[in-house]
Amino acid sequence: MISNALAQIKKFSISFLVAALAYTLSSSLAYALKLESNNYQINPIDSILVLEDVKGSLSIDDIKSPSVQVRFTTIPKSVNEINFGFSDAAYWLKISVDRTISSPEIWILQIPYFGLDYIDFYGPNQVAVHTGALMSIWSRPLFGRYYAFPLILKAEQLQDVYIRVKSSSSLSVPITLWQSESYSRFSLQDSLLQSFYYGGIGILCIFNFLIFIYLRDRAYFYYSMFALFVGLGIFSGNGYGRLFLWPESPRWDQVSQIFFLGIAVGNALFFTKAFLNTKKILPRINVGIIFCAVLIYAVSLSILGAYVLAIEPAVLLQLMPLLSLPSIVLAILSGILAFKLGVESAKFYLLAWGALSLGAVIAVLRMFDLVPSNGFTSYSLQISSAVEMILLSLALAHRIKDERQMREKAQNEVIESKKILIDSLKISKENLDRTVEVRTHDLQEMLEGEKKLREQYVRFGSMISHEFRNPLGIIEAQLALLAHGGDQDKLRKRLSVIGSATHRLAMLFDRWLQGDRLESKIDSIRPQLIDLNIWLEDLVEKCASYHLDHHIILISFHRKFTLMADEKMLQALVLNLIDNACKYSSTGSAVQVQVKQKGDMLGISVKDEGIGIDQKDQLLIFDEYLQLNPNSQTKGFGLGLAFVKRITELHHGKVELHSQPGVGSEFIVWFPEKYVVFLHAEL
Ligand code: ADP
Repeated sequence: MISNALAQIKKFSISFLVAALAYTLSSSLAYALKLESNNYQINPIDSILVLEDVKGSLSIDDIKSPSVQVRFTTIPKSVNEINFGFSDAAYWLKISVDRTISSPEIWILQIPYFGLDYIDFYGPNQVAVHTGALMSIWSRPLFGRYYAFPLILKAEQLQDVYIRVKSSSSLSVPITLWQSESYSRFSLQDSLLQSFYYGGIGILCIFNFLIFIYLRDRAYFYYSMFALFVGLGIFSGNGYGRLFLWPESPRWDQVSQIFFLGIAVGNALFFTKAFLNTKKILPRINVGIIFCAVLIYAVSLSILGAYVLAIEPAVLLQLMPLLSLPSIVLAILSGILAFKLGVESAKFYLLAWGALSLGAVIAVLRMFDLVPSNGFTSYSLQISSAVEMILLSLALAHRIKDERQMREKAQNEVIESKKILIDSLKISKENLDRTVEVRTHDLQEMLEGEKKLREQYVRFGSMISHEFRNPLGIIEAQLALLAHGGDQDKLRKRLSVIGSATHRLAMLFDRWLQGDRLESKIDSIRPQLIDLNIWLEDLVEKCASYHLDHHIILISFHRKFTLMADEKMLQALVLNLIDNACKYSSTGSAVQVQVKQKGDMLGISVKDEGIGIDQKDQLLIFDEYLQLNPNSQTKGFGLGLAFVKRITELHHGKVELHSQPGVGSEFIVWFPEKYVVFLHAEL
């Protein structure tokens, strides 16, 4: 028994000695952390010893016992940060520090990770601190988003610090040792940067929400909600939610970030839908977007429900990243396809998602120690989310620009079409004006014609009463005398007078009808061969019988002609000229009718000794309805010479006039060669 007991004591003594030796060696030599005055911020990883307390039952006193002390092990050199993964065990960390006399007395040990449920801190000669994610916020020795423990160290003396951690989530234990002043400065800088971030997100959120209220464009609403929930998610993930919004609710703190980010992803999907108008341009992807968004909302709300009902949401929390990945792929794919379809603002949209994805990749790479951990890489998600927000904001602004350009284009098109309309209205107005002018002119001409017609009828009436009354009076008187009888000679003479008067009436009618024919624009002529000498003799004789007051003389021509002419028209022509010669010359004067020849042309001349025509009126008198002295006693229509001219032109001839006021006038009507046949050389 005794020997047994002795053996036990011996064994114990040896192991105690070994442990004590190991302890002394380990603590004082190899792993002691020297704190100098220029060490403002230290990663003590190389000085940390670790012990796994599988049952989690060891107390600080147990830990300090030499038998347990020997179980502390070092951490592999390659590791940058302590991470025990998921474990039910508690872990003890031991750091032996020794500060130089010149270094400050107060140091801060910081654990910048929020996921640790329980942290127990034992400083040298200090009261133990029991804190952690599941403990009250007020259990923290320093109020801040990270766990920070003040260390009061004696100079030039080896002192041990123990930390016990236990958690249901990943057991990551990053540790930094700060000089207290450096720590304060770091905390201030960190708060300042974080304030910038949340301030920026807040402004983007409010600004876009106001734009939404103003424009009623849903893209702005989803964007502002996206910004709000990303902001809240990061706020919560950075530990501020716990500090300021739900200090007494550690359980909500564990799920809040996933919940907020889930809602944010849902909003990002609806933003994509509204911004790129996927319903119209990418209908299939649109269905995928709606499906993913609804699923993500459902999972997020389930997380909220689980929290309210105090159910463990572990499965739901794992579902979220599984759903977020396809959502981000869908969003980026929509951007690429929309850009290919010509949506200009999609390039900012793509850049935005690219920035966020880059940030996420950097964060993951940092987690696996594939990129160095520095200010940029540790905040990569936060930085990239800020860049994403700014780029999405730019994308929205670009969309406004796009829409404005489209509106301007449409307005220009409207203005252009209005201009074309105005031009065409102008043209049609001008056309209308011209048509009205032409019609007015036509109407005026018609009115003029009507007026002339009326005047003609009035004159016709007075002519009938004047010109027709004379021969009718003669016929009446001669018939009355015939009734009284008389000798044969007298009878014959009276009958001859009646005949002349009747002929005169017939000729007056003929003239009228001829005028009517010309007036009706019947311009065709019915030519026939006229033996001019005989025809003129006959006509002049008839004229002489009723122009008793004048001497109508035919001056015979030495050659014989046959003229090709419309006989009725030729008669109207010559009668008009003889009538005028008689009308515009005094009683008893002579009227000469003569055939003239000029080269191959043949002319019929009617010459009087009358009042003559002033030089200035000589061209005018051939116009229709023109009378030089309309109020004179001489009756006419102002048509005679117009007929003469017209008939001459129909025979391709021309009218020549020689006249002198007070001396007389000569009208010569010339017919061209083709209407003249020279039958006999000489008479
Ligand atoms: P009217 O029927 O009035 O004679 P005309 O056309 O025959 O119409 O003649 C037009 C005008 O020319 C006349 O009003 C007259 O003043 C003038 N005129 C025509 N022939 C002669 C003439 N032989 N001598 C002078 N004036 C003439």
